[in-house]
Amino acid sequence: MFNRNRLLYNLCKYKVSNNRAIITQQILTANHKNNITGINHSPVSGYSHTVASKHQYKVVETIAPVNKFVNRTHTCGELTINNVGEKVHLCGWLEFQRMGKFLVLRDAYGSIQVIVSDDNSLVQNINHLPYETVISVTGTVVARPVGQENKKMKTGEIEIQLEALEVLNIATPQLPFSIREYNKAKEALRMQYRYLALRFPEMQRNLRLRSNVLMKMREYLINNCDFVDVETPTLFKSTPGGAREFVVPTRHPGQFYSLVQSPQQFKQLLMIGGIDRYFQIARCYRDEGSRHDRQPEFTQLDIEMSFINREGLIEMIEGLLLHSWPPELSSIKVPFDHITYNDAMELYGSEQPDLRIPYNIQNITELIKQSSTLMDKTDFEHNTFGSYAVVIPNSQDCLINSLKSQFNDMAKKQFPGAKLVQEKVTGDSWNSKLIKLFSEDVTKNIADKLNVKEGDTLFISFGEKADAQQIVGKLRVEYTNVLESKGRKIRSSDYLFLWVVDFPLFSPGETKDTLASTHHPFTQPHPDDMDLISRDPLKVRGLHYDLVLNGSEIGGGSIRIHNPALQTKIFDMLDIDKSQMYHLLEALASGAPPHGGIALGLDRLTCLLCNAQSIRDVIAFPKTMEGRDLMSGAPVPISSEEMEAYHIKTINV
Ligand code: ASP
Repeated sequence: MFNRNRLLYNLCKYKVSNNRAIITQQILTANHKNNITGINHSPVSGYSHTVASKHQYKVVETIAPVNKFVNRTHTCGELTINNVGEKVHLCGWLEFQRMGKFLVLRDAYGSIQVIVSDDNSLVQNINHLPYETVISVTGTVVARPVGQENKKMKTGEIEIQLEALEVLNIATPQLPFSIREYNKAKEALRMQYRYLALRFPEMQRNLRLRSNVLMKMREYLINNCDFVDVETPTLFKSTPGGAREFVVPTRHPGQFYSLVQSPQQFKQLLMIGGIDRYFQIARCYRDEGSRHDRQPEFTQLDIEMSFINREGLIEMIEGLLLHSWPPELSSIKVPFDHITYNDAMELYGSEQPDLRIPYNIQNITELIKQSSTLMDKTDFEHNTFGSYAVVIPNSQDCLINSLKSQFNDMAKKQFPGAKLVQEKVTGDSWNSKLIKLFSEDVTKNIADKLNVKEGDTLFISFGEKADAQQIVGKLRVEYTNVLESKGRKIRSSDYLFLWVVDFPLFSPGETKDTLASTHHPFTQPHPDDMDLISRDPLKVRGLHYDLVLNGSEIGGGSIRIHNPALQTKIFDMLDIDKSQMYHLLEALASGAPPHGGIALGLDRLTCLLCNAQSIRDVIAFPKTMEGRDLMSGAPVPISSEEMEAYHIKTINV
């Protein structure tokens, strides 16, 4: 067999023929040391060189990195019409074959047709090889006969005339799904047989793109910006006031670790320790319900810097994204736009605005307040009342009914403080429902202000301002999704980043008169709002910033509190047990520099870069929405001995 490792690690000599690099393999033996003679193997190209040495040839190897150290001359995706006539050795999976004569060989880089001539005795054997068997082939690159090129294949102009084939590992004949029928395998099956799903070109592309982006991020942070990559523990203690954490039992009765929800405290402690520019590609854990863009374990690019302000941090992240942006995607421009939280809610009904959607929501509170038919008959509090509308242009061809019932159920649960009316603008009496609800004048004023046209769909929400904003904000996105699923192109294909700033420091807590942190309890209050902290805490803004890309939050961070007295006060206001945070308070008192940071959600970011349906498509071994690993079945019961060692008893409920 043609052995590439021997080819490389024995002495390879290269000489030029017809402007192409040709290898002649010279196997050196003790006797041959200074006497270059040897076995002249068939020429194999793909190696470049310079000529001349005292032995006639000087070897300068520039093998494509992807083919270094392994037993192949090329990948299945790299050969083109320019390689015709070359002898090659390829390895991969038998993706498909017909009559034992036409084979499709696939590896991580593409696929190529291998052709077996009629008189080749291998035809019979190949005919019985199951798909996905691992083989290696040696053969010569030939042009496909005119008219038989396959335009859909990158290597479709050529094929390999087979000379030798080796079966490296035979596959089970009945695999759960075929790699050629990617979309036909349901996601659960693809997760159960993840190693098979990883062979699909999309998964290959996604994981490689992710790896490239991370490499560029590291390059920017370490080489360009002198950051230090520090690993921090994942077994830690519970951090109050954040997400629900996974608990890890120990052999010490009644004592538990918590898996970190982020390295937040560690990175602040690193600043106090003088590691003033930190980053880490950090694995984090949150025991929260999964959503399509959330996993119980996920990866963040975690960053912290000392002596930084919000503007400096934002500039650094923009530089990072610019540097690591995949060149194959449409380019991005910095600086990104900024919007305050209040404006985002006012214009988009969301703190994660999707700027690609061309219509915004509109505040019609003052018009609706004129409606005695509505306002007099209800118990709306005038000072918290709000009414918002969104007009979806030219959408009457799209039925709203399916969306309507689904959406109404969701809206009632999530935004109980507001009501929703919807109308298709069609014919003269389209507004009869609105007239009944708001009166004729008010309806006319609304239609004029919103400039509704025949064919539009109009949604109006009214009630608690925040709920009213969010209902139409959500509709703006959902309805656009429905229209796009029916073939309408509404969103532009740009990557639109947006910084959302000036979030409220506190949000109302779960119970009356309690407070929760909007970001986390370590966020510095806005310096202009310090005097409101005790007086009107819900009005205080935090030095918190979120980065949004095309309607998804891909990062968030803040300038931190570095003053122990202020941190103590905020813990108290949030009803956080200070005894649990003593280590941090003590550290802040030991000379903590002003500092701030951010974390970028790498799963979400790469999902958007890959244009993937879900973050599971950019994670090699993802979990289901219920947090299960379908391949191994985890989580699974443990033995009674382990239960005992960890002092665990299950109770039947
Ligand atoms: N630790 C925060 C998070 O994981 C990010 C930050 O504030 O840097 O959301």
